[in-house]
Amino acid sequence: MASLIQQVIGHEEQKHMLEAAIENKSLPHAMVFSGPAGIGKMKLAVAIAQSLVCEEPMNAKACGHCGACVRVEKNQSESVRRVSPDGLQIKISQVREILDFLSLASDSQKRVIIIDHANQMNPQASNALLKTLEEPPQDVYFILTTTDVRLLMPTIRSRSQIISFKALTLHNLQRINPGLSSWMYKSSRGQAGKLLDFSEGETLERRNSDLGFFEHFWSNKNFILETDIKEYVKDRASASAVLKNWYTFTRDLIVFSQGARDQILNSDQITTLIKLDFIPTEKLYDFSSALLQAIQDIDKLDMTLLFESLWVKHARA
Ligand SMILES: [Zn+2]
Repeated sequence: MASLIQQVIGHEEQKHMLEAAIENKSLPHAMVFSGPAGIGKMKLAVAIAQSLVCEEPMNAKACGHCGACVRVEKNQSESVRRVSPDGLQIKISQVREILDFLSLASDSQKRVIIIDHANQMNPQASNALLKTLEEPPQDVYFILTTTDVRLLMPTIRSRSQIISFKALTLHNLQRINPGLSSWMYKSSRGQAGKLLDFSEGETLERRNSDLGFFEHFWSNKNFILETDIKEYVKDRASASAVLKNWYTFTRDLIVFSQGARDQILNSDQITTLIKLDFIPTEKLYDFSSALLQAIQDIDKLDMTLLFESLWVKHARA
């Protein structure tokens, strides 16, 4: 079996840096992998764990086939713990489990704790982790992943080495998931995770129906009276999906108004988009920032009110 790091596509610079650090025995004991969702940060974290615990590494690279390597790959390693949010949060009980695990004697093997979506650690959990993050036991490594390092508590941030990742290139997306339509690669914005979503019919249907809703929003003079918003936007998750799709449509309309047709993301839907060509570009700019704001504040907003007020402020008149 090939080692996991060989299976990580893209992020060459970060991979080399981490491998060199393992080889020089200078790998930081607390690291934050920060970058867009769905680009392979978790995959790389597990791969680094494999390189660390491998029984027969070659130049600090995992062999991929020893017992330790196989157990990491199967997520059965006694030396690697992966933690992810339980519901919306990483709770203090989960951090306590990590600390218990680390307090057990170990015969000087390396141990790796991977905390996925580390920004979802609640304050109690973050505080419980701090001391250990600052002075980890020997041969213990922490890898935290997050989409935005600013979402981590500053105390966690300051104790960790931040390693930043970028979205994947088109070429790497095509290597990960070949043979999709070009608009899918473009719309995924370099996030392979999103690419997978797009390749599922349900999400495609969702986008198409959201475009219909978008058209209705801009074209119907009685949008509020004639629309059952609650029926269409059932919960926050679906509202968030609608807003994100609307954002790409708005972006496409702006791009279209600037004559850059080749940069349209939803290029298969151009006929519908062209019908909305009447919206002034200035309005589109305002609307796109309102959408971003709404996506950010989604947890605080009433869904029906949100869509009504977006319509009143942007589409009415
Ligand atoms: Zn190995």
